[in-house]
Amino acid sequence: MKTFDVIIAGGGLAGLATAAQLVEKSKNLKVLVYEANQIGGGASGVPSGMVNPATGQRARMVWNAEACFRMLEKRLEQLSAVSDTNLRLQKGVLRPAIDENLAENFRLSLKHTRWPKGWIEWLQPDEVKKRIPYLKDCSGALFMSKGKTVRTPEYLQAYVRYLKESGVTFVFGGPYTTDNGSGEWTLRNRKNVYSAPNLVIATGFKAKENKYWTELPLNSVKGQLAVYHSPEHIGRLPAISAYGYIAPVDDHTLAVGSTYEHHYHDENPDTQGAGLLDQKLKELLPELYPHCQRIGQWSGIRATTPDRLPIVGEHYAQKGLYIYAGLGSKGLLYSELVASHLATHITEKKDLPFEISLYRFSRMEELRDKAREENEP
Ligand SMILES: Cc1cc2nc3c(=O)[nH]c(=O)nc-3n(C[C@H](O)[C@H](O)[C@H](O)COP(=O)(O)OP(=O)(O)OC[C@H]3O[C@@H](n4cnc5c(N)ncnc54)[C@H](O)[C@@H]3O)c2cc1C
Repeated sequence: MKTFDVIIAGGGLAGLATAAQLVEKSKNLKVLVYEANQIGGGASGVPSGMVNPATGQRARMVWNAEACFRMLEKRLEQLSAVSDTNLRLQKGVLRPAIDENLAENFRLSLKHTRWPKGWIEWLQPDEVKKRIPYLKDCSGALFMSKGKTVRTPEYLQAYVRYLKESGVTFVFGGPYTTDNGSGEWTLRNRKNVYSAPNLVIATGFKAKENKYWTELPLNSVKGQLAVYHSPEHIGRLPAISAYGYIAPVDDHTLAVGSTYEHHYHDENPDTQGAGLLDQKLKELLPELYPHCQRIGQWSGIRATTPDRLPIVGEHYAQKGLYIYAGLGSKGLLYSELVASHLATHITEKKDLPFEISLYRFSRMEELRDKAREENEP
């Protein structure tokens, strides 16, 4: 049996960030990341990830935006040092107002939200045209200089390298069973048994398949994304957020995402998805579209909560069993800050912020109360 202080099931953005925050907070912790498939095998494998501080039709500032950005930027800087590739494309995010109603919403967001200085500006239609000549006509746009695009697969690779250098153990081990007894969690696969007093389930949309977490308020939403080659140099293009997003991958490659499929038959990319993504590109960049060639397609399943914020916490009845899921469409932005809270919750027993706590959902609270009643002498 191999023993650890914490086992993390799942090597996506949530699992890797949790491992990093744990070893950075307590250098002597022995941490194992157990990945059933491969790093980036889940939603985190998205070829190009946009980081956008303004969310929804009203361009609201995302939860804890400043802290999230600070932590992501610190991580990007650190991982860039162990990567051969440029992990981030710091070109901002543009949110075109495709009609006058949206333009009004965006202007109101600028007026009523306390955006940090220098993060966001309103561009008049002629200024938008000047910056992106092949963008469809719009009623102006928000430009978020803080927004960025991250090369997610390379980010994950650099993350694994950094974690290994920091002493984290990785096992790619296929199916397993989990059990607990005498204060230890054991994870048993065909070859080995691993044990630790703490087990974090960070398996994305698969979290509900874990027998202890079947009641989690998580929905699975399939997303497809297509990658296009553009003969035109698009190196200066910011990410564009409208009907999904268009994000540069490199000087001649674009990622167009994504579909939101609440009902789906399988997890794979399909021709219907490809058609929708072609349509998005055609709609947004009509002059560039005829020259672009679709060269790849990708799909993943997001796990989302009813209020679109992540969900973390210790199980209502199982000591030492934690959940970290529900990153939705904001895995890059939220993963570090949430992992940092979870790590201090595990190591120092500090309370989690209510907005991301498991127990903000009444069903979870109910189950916790019931478990407490049953345990009362
Ligand atoms: C099409 C699409 C586009 C997206 N675009 C963006 C974007 O632009 N910006 C952004 O920030 N976010 C984006 N996201 C969302 C982002 O990808 C997710 O929020 C994030 O990846 C979720 O990370 P996770 O670690 O919770 O889950 P996952 O990435 O799904 O990781 C879970 C891991 O657990 C492993 N696993 C599964 N079952 C088990 C098990 N039983 N035991 C051990 N391991 C297991 C899986 O193989 C996987 O590696 C997008 C998602 C999709 C689908």
